[in-house]
Amino acid sequence: MRPHEPSVERVSRGVAASGGVVHGRVFRIGSGMVDVRPRSIAERETGEELERFHRAITETRHQVLEIHQRVLLAMGATEAAIFEAHGLVLEDPALVGEISRAIREGLNGAEYAVQTVCSRFCAALEAADDPYLRERAADVQDVSHRVIRNLLGEMGPNLANLAEPVVLVAPDLPPSATALLDRSKVLGFATDRGGLTGHTAIVARKLRIPAVVGLGDVSRELQTGDHVLIDGHEGVLVLSPTDATLFRYGQIRERREALEVRLQAVRDLPAVTLDGARIGLAANIDEPSEVASVRESGAHGVGLFRTEFLFLNSEVPPDEDRQYAAYRAVAESLAPDPVVIRTLDLGGDKLVDPDQTAEQNPFLGWRAIRISLARPEMFRVQLRAILRASVHGRIRLMFPMISSIDELIEAKALLEECRSDFVRQGVAHDPTLQVGMMIEVPSAALLAPHLAPHVDFFSLGTNDLTQYTLAVDRLNPKVATLHNPAHPAVLRLIRATVEAARAQGRWVGVCGEMAGDPALIPLLLGLGVDELSVTPALIPAAKHLLRRLRRDEAVAMAERALGCSRAQDALELSRDLARTAAPELFSAPE
Ligand code: PEP
Ligand code: MG
Repeated sequence: MRPHEPSVERVSRGVAASGGVVHGRVFRIGSGMVDVRPRSIAERETGEELERFHRAITETRHQVLEIHQRVLLAMGATEAAIFEAHGLVLEDPALVGEISRAIREGLNGAEYAVQTVCSRFCAALEAADDPYLRERAADVQDVSHRVIRNLLGEMGPNLANLAEPVVLVAPDLPPSATALLDRSKVLGFATDRGGLTGHTAIVARKLRIPAVVGLGDVSRELQTGDHVLIDGHEGVLVLSPTDATLFRYGQIRERREALEVRLQAVRDLPAVTLDGARIGLAANIDEPSEVASVRESGAHGVGLFRTEFLFLNSEVPPDEDRQYAAYRAVAESLAPDPVVIRTLDLGGDKLVDPDQTAEQNPFLGWRAIRISLARPEMFRVQLRAILRASVHGRIRLMFPMISSIDELIEAKALLEECRSDFVRQGVAHDPTLQVGMMIEVPSAALLAPHLAPHVDFFSLGTNDLTQYTLAVDRLNPKVATLHNPAHPAVLRLIRATVEAARAQGRWVGVCGEMAGDPALIPLLLGLGVDELSVTPALIPAAKHLLRRLRRDEAVAMAERALGCSRAQDALELSRDLARTAAPELFSAPE
């Protein structure tokens, strides 16, 4: 790593994605997760370098074939076709020949040869009149990134040879790559893009990796070797921090660590308000390995198991037995506490493969229950696995992104089919399994009175509900300040959902990021939700706060907030109540 020492301290502000203060050297990676520098080789090394190149081509061909199969199974022939095109790029004799020449005659290292030749090919294709040829440029680029990543020996950033842990800086990090970050190598990360409720930020909070996202152009402004400090609580990145800054942040870190110790005191106490209202406090998880942190956090079960990460973190889609084993492991180890398993919510920023970016508006596109209903063979596998696991604990099943009653009825019909098969075949399952749905689309909140008779519970996905109600992309830093779940329009939808559920004896949870934000918890308490489900790291603070609030005061405050015309006014009402109850959670860094 080349130390690079700009001498003047500079502060950039972004989105506070995951708490923690760290400082260290920058390691910058590109959008394709590769950082290739010009590298010359000696003539005697060309044979070895060509061999490396051909090995990487073979490896890439296998991966592309595997992805093709996976996408074919999960999504169908049209979506899989793109990976056929990727396979063809690897067969192209002109491209492969020219890269070999750049190694043999140009004496370039293989990665650099792939990058320069492919960039030239892409530029030529992009300039073509024929739209078909222009589209092929993206294929060449995707494949070249994959070949380079294989040459570098891994599919993520090449951190293997670092002498010290680094602060990763990138235009963006896909959630699946974030989940695989090696904590011993990565102190924290900073990205140009992303928002508080994007899954990259959610995964970072879960892994307790300090992170600032949505920093604009930071990946272009910083270089590998720069010294930076990031404060993931405040969303700040400081380039070349002075000794005074490092000292100040050291004190902030100490105060925050002392608070964490203090919060541990409530771990085994119930989440009960001062006037006796008991609120369910559950955890959000993505993988079975997180059950230990659920238990440590003092959570009461799992309110959201995002099962799509089982698919995202695996080369091939998990079959029924593998899914069953995962669901059973979670249910069994947390029993008798309940575990809400959400069926597959792929799409949006959770793509099966990062190269699959065909949709113009992925959050409005083929996502979640829409994919599951269009692929009933795949959906049945998951439903069967959940039903089989249901005898091993207190499992509840939940459908994501329902936007109409027809979707709910169709999903439930498939579940009933699986149940009847099991009854006929004598396969054990819990006949009293609770079935619920996410309320994360405004249409669902507005139709809650019609949906409630078909479910046992609702879970408010405020990340998407806010995105869809306010027309604010949850990943776009340019509109990050508009993604405000305290907006009175969102509050009214929450209230409508709670009222519809209460009228029909259903319970309501909240599993969006709003539920873990101390400034917003009084609003949710006052609006009458029964359960909050948050990332395990945030459970202690949420419980500490709930135990210091009065529900009657929260109800009165929420009534006032519902009457506000501005999000900021509603937010301040809630934050003031929280700050009065637990000022230690809000002590701003001086
Ligand atoms: C939500 O939308 O609030 C939610 C919990 O679902 P996800 O974040 O996985 O989209
Ligand atoms: Mg959602």
